[in-house]
Amino acid sequence: MIKNIIKQIRYIKSIIREKRKLKTRSPHWDSVRKTFIQAHPSCEACGSLKKLQVHHILPFHLCPELELDTSNLITLCMDNNECHLEIGHGGSFKSFNPYVRPFAQRFLIETDILKRKLLIETCSTIRKNVVLVK
Ligand SMILES: [Zn+2]
Ligand SMILES: [Zn+2]
Repeated sequence: MIKNIIKQIRYIKSIIREKRKLKTRSPHWDSVRKTFIQAHPSCEACGSLKKLQVHHILPFHLCPELELDTSNLITLCMDNNECHLEIGHGGSFKSFNPYVRPFAQRFLIETDILKRKLLIETCSTIRKNVVLVK
């Protein structure tokens, strides 16, 4: 009985180890990120040129195979609007917003502060959780 449990635990640990191996960031990420920022040099949600970050639309932890896929990338800022956190992740870096692209486009052309606030609130209600293996 106990032997079986130990076996089971070992098995689960080995799976976690395998998953960790798969989830190591690519050595090419840094150059892909730099090239992407050069091609998209402003925040795609608010137009800021400061504190830019390249965000994965489908997060690396869920879809490591899309890490270097530029169609899965979007430039967002952590400037005044904190677009990366608020629009890319719906207010928590443990979550992600699968609809970040249309929301960023909408946010960019919206000039009304209250409507912008509403857009950010909506992002936090539609966000999905990223399940992390510890
Ligand atoms: Zn921004
Ligand atoms: Zn992100």
